[in-house]
Amino acid sequence: MFSGIGRVERHPDGDWYVHRIPGPATAKEYRCPGCDQEIAPGTPHVVAWSADGPIGAFGDVTDRRHWHTPCWRARARRGPTR
Ligand SMILES: [Zn+2]
Repeated sequence: MFSGIGRVERHPDGDWYVHRIPGPATAKEYRCPGCDQEIAPGTPHVVAWSADGPIGAFGDVTDRRHWHTPCWRARARRGPTR
């Protein structure tokens, strides 16, 4: 679990909890759904999950998406590519 819940951001496809992960806290690689590239360990990034789902703030780990910070910011403009 992460220590604390990020803020809620409002997007065209709903509300998302957004939590910023500092680089040293990342220990494994994730695949960014925005650009389909790996997020290398140690890279500060964003984890987001839907606030509209039934599990809400306690969102299942499998529903979380790890994004490069710039990809998350660009998401509203270009939309998800997955
Ligand atoms: Zn990316």
